[in-house]
Amino acid sequence: MTQTIAFIGLGNMGGGMAANLLKKGFAVRAFDLSEDALSRAESHGAIRTASVAQAVDGAGAIVTMLPAGQHVETVYGGDVFDAAHPGALLLDCSTIDVATARRVNEAAATKGFAMVDAPVSGGIAAANGGTLTFMVGGTDDAFARARPILEAMGKAVIHAGGRGNGQAAKICNNMLLGATMIATCESFAMARKLGLDPQTFYDICSVSSGQSWSMTSYCPLPGVGPQTPADNGYQGGFAAALMLKDLKLASEAAASVGASVPMGNAAEALYQVLVNKGEAARDFSVMIEMLEGR
Ligand code: NAD
Repeated sequence: MTQTIAFIGLGNMGGGMAANLLKKGFAVRAFDLSEDALSRAESHGAIRTASVAQAVDGAGAIVTMLPAGQHVETVYGGDVFDAAHPGALLLDCSTIDVATARRVNEAAATKGFAMVDAPVSGGIAAANGGTLTFMVGGTDDAFARARPILEAMGKAVIHAGGRGNGQAAKICNNMLLGATMIATCESFAMARKLGLDPQTFYDICSVSSGQSWSMTSYCPLPGVGPQTPADNGYQGGFAAALMLKDLKLASEAAASVGASVPMGNAAEALYQVLVNKGEAARDFSVMIEMLEGR
């Protein structure tokens, strides 16, 4: 029997994810506050609904892909908990703070719902292509039920541990990414000033101990390494504003457990400057232009 999934939040990421569920044979009941997002979902074969309550009606699972913690708390606390079918599985794929993820997941448990936090690595292209990585927090049982749904939208689904651990993995990963991207940008900038050809530096560094994903797979300089947003004027990719959002979530989480994250704090401060310069929408690797004074 076709499994029906309610999908709430069909924006840049959720739109492609819902389309992949449809391609894999799930029925999707879509709800979003945006008319554009709903029309796009409908064009992929989703059933348009007029509210969260209507979307979750009769759905065996509910997937949310929302901007931030307050939206997740509103959608679940407002309607999902009241209107969802008893026994429905809840999957929140948004990137939100660990504390809210744990609070919403515990509230779900007290209402009798199994829930996972399942944030993603990979941007809009991976959402459209069904190649996201999901890091999942929740009980073993909830993870086992979530896995086939997440596998329909991604290439890797990894159980990170109990409630909120998916979000914990996501922000630790992105804090590392923010710091390695800045380190990569400043190394290229300095290499150039010291008279090194960027391609030569790339060739050396990519097979040496300074190698990282930011260097080898997502090189911040145009014309060097594989095709990246740098080759497209830093359009597309992962917006600097979203990197700043994740670094703020990382700082908050670090403070809540007394973790010392000086590199994460420095990365947050630098991305704040970049965003204040009007670079919120361009890819986060545009950091190199700021460091080179361009
Ligand atoms: P987006 O703004 O494009 O989409 C969010 C959608 O949620 C919008 O269509 C909005 O109308 C809808 N929405 C907001 N409140 C709602 C409500 N109460 N009820 C129904 N719909 C509501 O954002 P996005 O880029 O798709 O990102 C979604 C999440 O994925 C964020 O948490 C983001 O941090 C995370 N993420 C994004 C990327 C990326 O590259 N864009 C990568 C990894 C993770």
